[in-house]
Amino acid sequence: MSTPLYIEPRLEASLSTLLESASFLHSLVDALGSPLNVVLPDGIAENAERFRAVYRKHHLGGQLFFAHKANRSSALVRRLAAGDAGIDVASLGELQHALGAGFSPGRILATGPKDPEFLWLAARAGVTVSVDARAELETLASLVRAHALPRVRILLRLSEFESTGVRVRSRRSRFGSPVRETDALLDVVERLGEAVELIGVAYHLDTTSLAEKALALESCVGVLDECRLRGLEPRVIDVGGGFGASYVADAGQWERYTNELASAVLGARPALTWRGHGYGLWSEGGTLRGASALYPAHRTAVGARYLDELLSLPGPTLGRPLGTLLLEHLYDLYAEPGRSLVDQCGLSLARVLDVRRTDGGDHLVRLGMNAGDVSLEEHGILVDPVLVPRAGVRGDAGPVGAYLVGNLCLEGDLITRRMVYLPRLPCPGDLLAFANTAGYCMDFHAHQAQRQPVARTVAVARGGDSWQWCLDERYWPVTLPGGRT
Ligand SMILES: *Cc1c(COP(=O)(O)O)cnc(C)c1O
Repeated sequence: MSTPLYIEPRLEASLSTLLESASFLHSLVDALGSPLNVVLPDGIAENAERFRAVYRKHHLGGQLFFAHKANRSSALVRRLAAGDAGIDVASLGELQHALGAGFSPGRILATGPKDPEFLWLAARAGVTVSVDARAELETLASLVRAHALPRVRILLRLSEFESTGVRVRSRRSRFGSPVRETDALLDVVERLGEAVELIGVAYHLDTTSLAEKALALESCVGVLDECRLRGLEPRVIDVGGGFGASYVADAGQWERYTNELASAVLGARPALTWRGHGYGLWSEGGTLRGASALYPAHRTAVGARYLDELLSLPGPTLGRPLGTLLLEHLYDLYAEPGRSLVDQCGLSLARVLDVRRTDGGDHLVRLGMNAGDVSLEEHGILVDPVLVPRAGVRGDAGPVGAYLVGNLCLEGDLITRRMVYLPRLPCPGDLLAFANTAGYCMDFHAHQAQRQPVARTVAVARGGDSWQWCLDERYWPVTLPGGRT
């Protein structure tokens, strides 16, 4: 076999200790079935504290809202409710979940597409609403009037920021109101002043580019200044989410893999993917075309550090560090991290069901899980699973490349379309653990096709020398060790 191209996951202390606890993990899957999701609720509180430290460093007030959509878990949400962070909800169900977990309405922000029921409950409870567009603002105001609800605090979500120098321009989004239409929107806000109170503006850009975000943030300062000239008194700038996570431990492994993938697409080395899948790349007469659709899996400035870098960056027009600009104006900073708040907060386990070889000589490892259960590639994450051996089972030593196939009766049901290198060939009964799946990879795309079981979720915490666990829905901050802020 050619040299194994490992892409090993980045594991902080809790996840790596958990992965070493093979008999504990096996007993969980024996009892609860495969696939199984495991979440570490204390991790979300630690991540929130890292963001808080950045607020303190820049002397900024405001609030952090966990973007609930990244994970459905009750344990993560309830654990977060035990501290002082807030939560960003994007559906009626998420709002009910947050209220039931103990978040007071002042710590909840309603974002995303909204139906009248969602808007009604948000308004009734006194949750802040991040208004997507003018039509939503009108609907909200008429609900408030028709049902005699209290005045709702709102943020205006803006998009399509443009710099005067045209060097940077934020990409189009189907969410938010274009910033060039702000004036008209503010006229509506003033007209509906009895129903809504403007507390600030918001953006959420689906990009890793700091330059785009710096432009957006500085533009928002300008919009708030305009509001003040009109006599409105908003004080909040909400910079959305998208602070990212780093999934791969070793930058060198990642670089080597992506280079080899390009060579494989060009036919200069044996295939690295199922049926030559190119992850957005293809070869045209020996030249590499297209753009890699891979999430930049090894990143240095992610999560709270990304926020720190953004706040330290000079604004593209005014040239003052953005954090200083906010501080001088006494504006509050809101942020809505999803993926980065649940970084290192969970893993997904699958039982190995059988191992075979194709005519072409490829190893196929079939798992008790399908592509919907770890939707790693929807967001382009491709790290290697960790082999958690069953006690007493001994496979052939030595690295092996294998394709991981799922439990659906569907040609395309591969857990990943790339060949995965493992330290040895797995045996039926072993577990494969996909690390760091709590952000979008664990339950976002799970479905019930073929009545295959949907993963149950358990919460675990370290108590002394051992792990303790409970079903996710039974977790409260008093259930397991830890849980205090
Ligand atoms: C998805 C989303 C987020 C969270 O994004 P991450 O990349 O997970 O940090 C925050 N705000 C809004 C409005 C979103 O749609």
